Order: sequence, then C-alpha cells, then structure tokens
Amino acid sequence: MINNTYNYLLSDLKKLKGVGIKTYNILKKKKINNIFDLLWRLPKSYTDRSKSTKIKDLKIGEVQTITLVPYKYNFPRIRNLPNRIYCKDETGEMDCIFFNSYEGYIKKILPLNKEVTVSGKVGHFRNKYQITNPKYISKDASIIKDKHNKYSLTEGISENVYNKIINQILTNLPILDEWHDEHVLKKFDNISWNESIIQLHKPENVGKFKSNFYKRLAFDEILSTFLVHSQIRKNIKKIKKQQKFFKNESQKKLIDKLDFELTNDQKKSLNEINNDLKSNQKMFRLLQGDVGSGKTIVALCAAANVVNSGFQIAVMAPTEILAKQHYNLAKKIFDKNINLEILSSKTQYKEKKTIIKKLKEKQIDIIFGTHAIFQKKILFNKLGLIIIDEQHKFGVNQRKKLSDKGGDNCDVLLMSATPIPRTLTMTVYGDMDLSIIREKPKSRKEVKTYSKLETKIDEILRFIKKEIQNNNQIFWVCPLIEESKKLDHSSAVEKYKFLKNKFPNQVSLLHGKTENEDKEKILKDFLNQKTKILVSTTIIEVGIDFPNANVIIIENANKFGLSQLHQLRGRVGRGEKQSSCILLFKSSLTDNAKKRLNILKSSTDGFVISEEDMKLRGFGDILGFKQSGVKIFKLADPLHNNDLFELAEKEIKQMEKKNIKLSKYKTLMKLYDQADIIYDIV
Ligand code: ADP
Ligand code: MG
Repeated sequence: MINNTYNYLLSDLKKLKGVGIKTYNILKKKKINNIFDLLWRLPKSYTDRSKSTKIKDLKIGEVQTITLVPYKYNFPRIRNLPNRIYCKDETGEMDCIFFNSYEGYIKKILPLNKEVTVSGKVGHFRNKYQITNPKYISKDASIIKDKHNKYSLTEGISENVYNKIINQILTNLPILDEWHDEHVLKKFDNISWNESIIQLHKPENVGKFKSNFYKRLAFDEILSTFLVHSQIRKNIKKIKKQQKFFKNESQKKLIDKLDFELTNDQKKSLNEINNDLKSNQKMFRLLQGDVGSGKTIVALCAAANVVNSGFQIAVMAPTEILAKQHYNLAKKIFDKNINLEILSSKTQYKEKKTIIKKLKEKQIDIIFGTHAIFQKKILFNKLGLIIIDEQHKFGVNQRKKLSDKGGDNCDVLLMSATPIPRTLTMTVYGDMDLSIIREKPKSRKEVKTYSKLETKIDEILRFIKKEIQNNNQIFWVCPLIEESKKLDHSSAVEKYKFLKNKFPNQVSLLHGKTENEDKEKILKDFLNQKTKILVSTTIIEVGIDFPNANVIIIENANKFGLSQLHQLRGRVGRGEKQSSCILLFKSSLTDNAKKRLNILKSSTDGFVISEEDMKLRGFGDILGFKQSGVKIFKLADPLHNNDLFELAEKEIKQMEKKNIKLSKYKTLMKLYDQADIIYDIV
C-alpha cells in the first residue's frame, strides 16, 4: 500500500497490526501518538551499554554498565520484599535488586566475591544506588558492551513485536513529494525523504550521523522549526500597532539617577527596545543576558518610556518574591507620579478589587505580579507592554499565546537569564527578535571558584566563620538526590541540622516543600542579614538579588551541569565585595570532572560555558531543556549539526527576502510540527 499522502503517517497507532492495547498504551505514555512519531524511535542510540561506569559516577535514571563484585546476599523470604545483593567496586557500593527471582538463580548469576558486569537502569533507594532486575549480567564484560547494537527497546515491548511494527511501517511508507529546492537537495546527494527513513532503520546504519540520509532528515526538522518561527514572526509583524511616542529625556533623567553607568550592551539593548516601541509593528523581543548582567534596569527604563507614551505595563515574574523585588526597585527609581501596584496571592480580596478597578480606569501605570496578573477578570485600560522575567522555559506555543494576550497594541518583552549556544537560541527563540547583554557591569569582581573534598569540612567551617565575622553571608546548596518530582530534601535537612549546631541562630533552611509564607520570611530574614547561612536545595530563586551574600558552597558539585553551576555561582558576586564559590566533591575528581571544573574556573561568560557544557553533555541536558517542553529535535543536534542550522537560517532569510510562499513545505511542517500554530498557515 504505497500512497502519496502523509495522512498514513499521522494516523493512529491502533491501525497497525501487532499493536494491541498494551503496546498502544506503552507507546502513548512515551508520547508516541502516531506512526510518524514511531519513526524516530531508534532506541539503540539511547541505550548505550558500551561504556563502563564506576559506582561513584553513576547517574540516576540512566542505563549504565558497571563491573562490580557481589559480597553479600539478603534474601528476606517475605512476600513483596525483593532479594537484595550487596555489591561494590573500588569507588563505592550499590545493590542489585531482584523481584520474583529464585535464590538459586541469583547465586548462579551473581556469585559472591567474583567480578561480574551488569547493565541496567540506575535507581536509588535510601541514599544508595541500585539496579532493579538488571537487564544483562555477565562475567564477560565484552558481551554486555556489544548489546547496544541490538534493536532492544522500550520497556514492556519485546524486540520481536517492535521489529514487526517497524517493518510494517517501512513497507507502507508513502512516497512524499519532495519539498526541498534542488540546490538544497544536492547537498544531501539528492536522497529522498522515504529513502532516508529506510536507511535510518537499517541496523548497519546505526550511528552514521554524517551520512546523507541522516543529515537530510536532521535538516528537515531544523528547517521545519525555522519555517514555523518565520511564519510566527511574519504574522506578528503584520499586526499594525499604535506607535508609542515618548521623549528620551525622562529616560535620561532616570538613568542619571542610578548610582552606576549602563554598560554598552545595556544601552544597545535599550535602544533596540525603544525602536521597537516607537515603530508601528508589534514588538516580540527577547532580552537575553547572563545572571547579573542587569536586565531588570533595561526593562524598567523601557517601562518608563511606555508610561510616558500613555500606556500601561504588566510585569510578570515567576515568583512573588521576584515580583516584589522588581516592584521595590521601580518604587525606588521612578518618579512619584508613576503609579505602581503589586498583585500577589496574599493581596486581600478588597484590595484586589480596588486594584482591578484601578487598572480598568488607568489609575495604575505599572502592575507587578506573577502569572496571576493575567487572570481573565483582570482587564487593562490601555495595556502597551508585557514584560516577562526569567521564563526561559516557555515553549513556542505558550509564547505565541502570551503575545496575543495584550491585544494588537501591546508589545512583548521576554527576559531570559539563560545564556545558551547560538544554535540553541535559534531553535528555542527563533520566533523572537533578540537583544543580548554579554558585557557584565564593570564594577563586578570575579567570583573566585575553588574545589574541595567534602572531607575537608573543618577547613570550610573555619572559612565560613571568618566570612560571618566579616559580616558576609553564605548560600549552602545541596543537590536533590532523586531526580523526580518527589523531591528528596534529606541532604539539605541534614546539612541544616549540622550547621545549626555549629552556628546557632544563624542558619535557615529552604527547600521545595517549604510553605510559601515561611519561604518569604526566610528569604526576608536572609536579605536583612538576620540569618547568615541559607541552606537550600537548588530552588533559590534564579533572579533574586542578595548583594550581601558572597559565598556559595555547592555540595556534590559533580551532580550538576556546568551551566547550572554557573547559574548557582551567579547568585553571589553582585555586591562590591570579593566573592567565592566552593564546589564540594565526594571523592577525587575524574579527568572529565577536572575538565569541567577548569572551564568553570577559567570563564565567567555564561555563553562560553553553555557552549562547553553542550559539548560535554549534549544539548538536551543544558538547564533542563529536555524536561521543559521546548522543542527538542529527534535527530538534529545543535552541537554537531552546526552547518545544517546555518544552512537553514540562510535558506529562511532568502525565502523571507523573496517572500516565497510556504505551501511547498506544507507536508514537512504538518509532519514535523504537529502544532496548532501552523494549521492556519498552510
Ligand atoms: P539580571 O540580569 O540577572 O536580572 P539584575 O537586573 O538583577 O540582573 O542586576 C543585578 C545587579 O546589578 C542589580 O543589583 C543591579 O542594580 C546591578 N546593575 C545593573 N546594571 C548595572 C551596571 N551597569 N553597573 C553596575 N551595576 C549594575
Ligand atoms: Mg533578573
């Protein structure tokens, strides 16, 4: 059954032979909703068992291969309790767990005191790594290391069933009309989409990232993403808005009042924003800059101009504490005749009603708050600008909705403190215009970065004591042990108890389960220097400004990516004083860990660090983009396919310049970006 339509590819999985309700549900859970989605399941590239890992370097949630020695059995003989085999290598200990397995069998495959290699998904229980029902166990490590070449698969679906399903799809693959221009296709030796897919699924082609078929398919998805972006931009640019007229004098007055001079990048960004405000096209702009680069002041200057031109502004922050911080800053630097208000979940009903009324009657110029300021019942009289802080985790669709929210006359400015590599910026924010602040304020002293073994706790305590005597404050960050939604705070709680003992009345604790109200008080006390040490998990608000905190201690630093360490480090070094960042490690560093550390020590430029982070960890891991719902490619890789991203960008620019109709790419976009957004385009 060969046909020329893409409908087959978008059809439901139930249509396939061999997909029963069980398989169907498993695939659905994995967000595989149709046949097209299934084409990209190339599990062998995800399950790499070829590299051995030492116990101390295990990563929870990943399939890993470890050579270890079992040294003790625990067969509880109680129903529902698993058999547990205690194992170790020279770096640490872990358990292998078996449900429903006979002792005799276990003793045979995991004999005591004999080296054996196991492979499976690494989990965690009571502070210890474990693998439950290891997938492979062998005395011969090389046997396991070969396994990744096989077509092994998703939990619950057998290899056999999966092969049958895939073969069925490949036989029925429709021959699609080519969407690329000749000159583009030539770059991939003219290979068609269909042929590429067939090649992609040949076992002998595993890992051929440089082949024409692989590159073509990667380029398809990049181009599709960029086409969608281009279309969104075009649609937004089509909106004719009322121009905002304002005089630069009031802005100048505001800037003159600051006790610092704007950096060149701040000035440049502000200019770009001002030009957008004055134009008759709706602004849809991202202000990207590292932590502490000074985005807030740029946004507030823009807000002052918008007030000046007679419009209202909504400033949205991700947390109430941040909203309050922005509000306080605005109160400090704005003229008294600008009316500011803050709306929070704690705002009393009566007061809230007044605020709503005042907004409607334009007695409020700028309103600060969390997403609560976008509730349906809140109506603006003349909203002219929406400013959104620190929301680097919005997907394209959410952003599009935001941009629609304020109506045609409303400009949109997004701020992101996540410096990311250029290819990733093109992918994640390609629908927006971009202003970048790379330059840090000149007054900033560089944060000194050290690494220390956890065992040297006495040295660290002495250091802290001295800092406290000098009137300084300390962040102590503990990692989450479990990378799931059920956060595990035990390490933070323990550290808190430990430090409280050493520094009575000076330590406070903050974690994901801290009640909102307590949280606010804890942060306030820390801000007012009532407490000196703040122990927390990684939840310390990204944007919060604690100028007096100048030491950050990060425990188990090897559990964090470079970008995340950089972000954490960015929480200190905001004031005049010399700041330090101390990274704690459980054991001496591996070469890879040393490499990472050196990058961090040698650079304070978030863009450089994120680029290096991407090289070391792959792009999906950068600051949790994988979990964030922003688009992640199936094949394309912003690191290795740099050339394809550039090519796509060039092609799009040409198309935009020549105003080429996109109907030719209809199939491509419908398949690759099954988002609503494109349905009104093609
Ligand atoms: P972010 O870009 O992370 O949001 P903020 O806007 O919070 O950074 O600014 C961080 C700190 O730097 C604030 O205390 C702010 O007053 C200060 N700051 C901003 N711009 C400058 C500058 N040009 N020179 C000196 N300090 C600045
Ligand atoms: Mg900020």
